[in-house]
Amino acid sequence: MTPDLDVAVIGAGIAGLTTAHELRRAGLTVRVYEKQRYVGGRMHCFRHDGWTVDEGAEQLPRHGYRATWELIDRLGVPHGDVPRIGGRPAVWRAGKARTGLAEPSALLTGAGLGPRGRLDLARLLAWLARHREEFDADHPERTPLGTATLRELAGRYHPDLHDYLLQPVAGCFFGWDTARSAAAPLLSLLRDVGPPTSWRTYADGMDLLARKLAEGLDVVTGSEVHEVVADKDSAGLRTDGGIVTARAAVLCVPAPVAARLHANPAPDEAAFLSACTFTPTLKVSCLLDRPLRPAAREPLYLLLTPDAEDSTLSGILADHVKHPARAPAGKGLLTLMADARTVPELLTAPDREVVERLTGAARRYVPGLERAGMRNFVHAFRHGLPEATPAALRCRPRFMARVTGPVEYAGDWVMLRPSSEGAVRAGALAASRVLSRLRGPRPDIPTDRKGTRETA
Ligand SMILES: Cc1cc2nc3c(=O)[nH]c(=O)nc-3n(C[C@H](O)[C@H](O)[C@H](O)COP(=O)(O)OP(=O)(O)OC[C@H]3O[C@@H](n4cnc5c(N)ncnc54)[C@H](O)[C@@H]3O)c2cc1C
Repeated sequence: MTPDLDVAVIGAGIAGLTTAHELRRAGLTVRVYEKQRYVGGRMHCFRHDGWTVDEGAEQLPRHGYRATWELIDRLGVPHGDVPRIGGRPAVWRAGKARTGLAEPSALLTGAGLGPRGRLDLARLLAWLARHREEFDADHPERTPLGTATLRELAGRYHPDLHDYLLQPVAGCFFGWDTARSAAAPLLSLLRDVGPPTSWRTYADGMDLLARKLAEGLDVVTGSEVHEVVADKDSAGLRTDGGIVTARAAVLCVPAPVAARLHANPAPDEAAFLSACTFTPTLKVSCLLDRPLRPAAREPLYLLLTPDAEDSTLSGILADHVKHPARAPAGKGLLTLMADARTVPELLTAPDREVVERLTGAARRYVPGLERAGMRNFVHAFRHGLPEATPAALRCRPRFMARVTGPVEYAGDWVMLRPSSEGAVRAGALAASRVLSRLRGPRPDIPTDRKGTRETA
């Protein structure tokens, strides 16, 4: 029996849309199934009375996001639509916001580190510079750090490095617990992306690329896939609309969801899927009647609040400083990010309680917040970011060396890279694997030992 489609893609996040875009470009019939009524997944944003609210991702760097910028260029998005973010990031320590985070000047200004911490930061940076070539963000399992956790790495240095640099960065950006997540993915990423002064955001909201990609694709929103079964040469999907068959299916959902949907994964796939745990994230957007921001001598777009200073928040982002179009003129938009230790209990709490807890904690950093609030929105992701644990690092080589099959995967977790760039790269890789299976090898792409191919 002829399958209904060449390829069925499950999930219209940036990984699924990239996969579908690449396969469509190659001339295959592709349909994307998305359970939400909108595309973008964790890069979705919405518009409300002149505010543009990023629900998940917030920014992208100019460097280290090669695949994303190639897509930006291919879709004809002018670089002016992806401007530099305004303001600087800072770390809160002992009652003050300290700027210079992840900038070379941190060695001089401290950026929240005391003198011994600065010396040890210099030692860590010198070690990284010596081993620069051994770090590759596409292969975090191959670095000289092995499977050491962030806490284990930090144990070699002054406690400031953990408490006022590694923990707040990992906690606020990824919701990570430094005792559980491996150091290599974070250091590989930081090595690539450069200082925050070069970071950017999409002027029109973080879903820009997803919307542009979806325009040229067959995307069925509001359509959940309940099961995917691999057959010898095809895959079967149980969808809201009935059974669909395809020559290939690509699961572009977080690993725990893929594990639940895939009825018969191969052993190496099943091992990696179960090792790829995710951290939940939760944040509250506060639409304000004035442009308030964390108190500091210069405009801050982000204030990290380390575990050592705060147990409710991991950070506060001033979206209207990040880009003025996020709020109407004269108004403000703040994003309050919940501390990873608080997220599990907040996930089941009523929204009103969540807002009270987070805004209550934020008043310490943003004077006047209690009088400026107009409206709040809670955004929770049960699967916020891949946790990149030592177990996941250990399982990844066998997963990456697997032979191609009728069911493939894409998502940030495939690269163990907790960023949209990881998702885009995984999408391109999944597309090349599907093409090599359906069409045979392409001579211009290097092939590894087992006949799989890696282009990302
Ligand atoms: C709070 C937060 C902040 C972040 N900040 C940044 C940042 O600043 N910069 C950055 O680069 N990255 C950031 N990220 C990470 C980035 O958002 C993700 O890496 C990226 O969006 C992942 O894309 P994806 O396509 O792999 O997964 P997802 O975006 O999760 O897409 C999966 C899609 O599958 C759909 N789906 C799930 N189950 C089914 C089903 N059964 N049937 C059909 N559809 C289904 C979902 O609805 C979703 O649309 C952040 C993430 C979070 C949560």
